[in-house]
Amino acid sequence: MVTYLLKPGELSLKGENRKVFENILKRNLLSMLQLTGAQVEMTNGRFFVHCQEGVTEQVEDVLDHLLGIAGWAKTRTCEKTVEAVLRCCVEAGRAFFEQGGRTFKLEARRTDKGFPLDSYGIRSEGGHAILEAVPGLQVDVHTPQELITVEIREKAYIYGTGRKGRRGLPVGSAGRGLLLLSGGIDSPVAGYMMASRGMGIDAVYFHAYPYTSEEARQKVVRLAEIVGRYSQGIRLTTIGFTQVQMRIKERAPEAWTTVLLRMAMMECAQTLATRRGDKCLITGESLSQVASQTIENITCTGSRISLPIFRPLIGMDKEGIIRMAESIGTYETSILPYEDCCVLFSPPHPILRGDVNEAGRRYEQLELEELLEAALRESTLEKCQKAF
Ligand code: ATP
Ligand code: MG
Repeated sequence: MVTYLLKPGELSLKGENRKVFENILKRNLLSMLQLTGAQVEMTNGRFFVHCQEGVTEQVEDVLDHLLGIAGWAKTRTCEKTVEAVLRCCVEAGRAFFEQGGRTFKLEARRTDKGFPLDSYGIRSEGGHAILEAVPGLQVDVHTPQELITVEIREKAYIYGTGRKGRRGLPVGSAGRGLLLLSGGIDSPVAGYMMASRGMGIDAVYFHAYPYTSEEARQKVVRLAEIVGRYSQGIRLTTIGFTQVQMRIKERAPEAWTTVLLRMAMMECAQTLATRRGDKCLITGESLSQVASQTIENITCTGSRISLPIFRPLIGMDKEGIIRMAESIGTYETSILPYEDCCVLFSPPHPILRGDVNEAGRRYEQLELEELLEAALRESTLEKCQKAF
């Protein structure tokens, strides 16, 4: 049996609500671990995962995708006797040395005051035991390569520095939002960022078949699957927007087409969100990144929407967004070269600072109600592969 100890993150700050957050975290963890047969134990605000030796790789993959924990570590568990604790300290020190480590610090916490050594005593005796048994290891109290922690609670737990968690809040603790997911770099990152604030994610993708390809659609499905690994899955709806785009092309001056298309996407997304019970829209917009994302054009885009629109990337630069896309694993897929649905129009001189009143007038002239309703009627709920 292998045991992991999970270190709580922001969760621990939530006072009265803490139990609610913990229960959501537990439910998420159980559903992600389903295929591994691992058990989850929650005692005194601590989470433990117990699993068989053969599935540690899958379990660690789950912990790497879990939102709401500050870190996790493989843990040795033993009886609360001084002898057993010192033996585990030595084992932990030796394992660390064998992996090439050289300096450590021992940390001790004792919630069971019945244990014969106090935390100072555990630190000094444990430290000595390690130094004696593993020549070559040294103590470094300021910048140790490994922090070995001993906790005396219901049992004794001994663990190393372990891995950093993804922090944030457990998904499902902050309602659910509808992500406008394109095949680009930005929107998958935006979805991840809102998931890391505890939000469940639905997604909508607008395509313009036959001007956009089947590969472009599959790429978005794949992106939803990757982000879904963090967000307890994603329900992705695909909506055909060719007719809407054609109408815009017919009735609007070329310079306005992109802004009007964004307005139509937002309106359609809002209707879908309302039907789904999603409480906000989420986009990957970042201020002034492209012509459609100036403050004026963003104002136009959101001007007919009453749901809140969350734009978590608004103040980020492209480099930061790319780094994040790499860390969550969407970048490689996002840069595959399939066209997005805006290929139908890419005006050489798009309007840069659209006036919001003019935008409203032009939008009404499009008379999109029926087209949007038809697009929604014919939308498809994609089959995304199960996250774990
Ligand atoms: P991304 O990298 O997310 O595609 P972008 O930098 O290409 O963003 P735009 O093309 O201006 O920016 O799109 C802005 C936002 O509008 C996107 O982040 C996304 O949320 C939404 N969006 C754009 N195209 C689509 C689409 N075809 N389907 C769904 N949402 C879209
Ligand atoms: Mg794009």
